[in-house]
Amino acid sequence: MSDCGCSKARKDLEEYLRHEVCKTQHSDITEHLENCPACRDEALVATTLTAVIARACKETAPDQLRDQVLARLRAEQSTHH
Ligand SMILES: [Zn+2]
Repeated sequence: MSDCGCSKARKDLEEYLRHEVCKTQHSDITEHLENCPACRDEALVATTLTAVIARACKETAPDQLRDQVLARLRAEQSTHH
């Protein structure tokens, strides 16, 4: 069993979840996650967080943009009076 170890798995977890690690590392980490419930939990938490943040950004971005546009319009209107 070529377990890469918890510290290496955690270190590469972020890249792993973004699919940025090379194929060899990827299978190493996959294998480690299969054998290590602690790191599997860590990966699940990270995946969930990433998904939640991505969803939150998608939902808030248009509102923020709208507010910025409105603020700019109001500022322009107020300078014309
Ligand atoms: Zn581990």
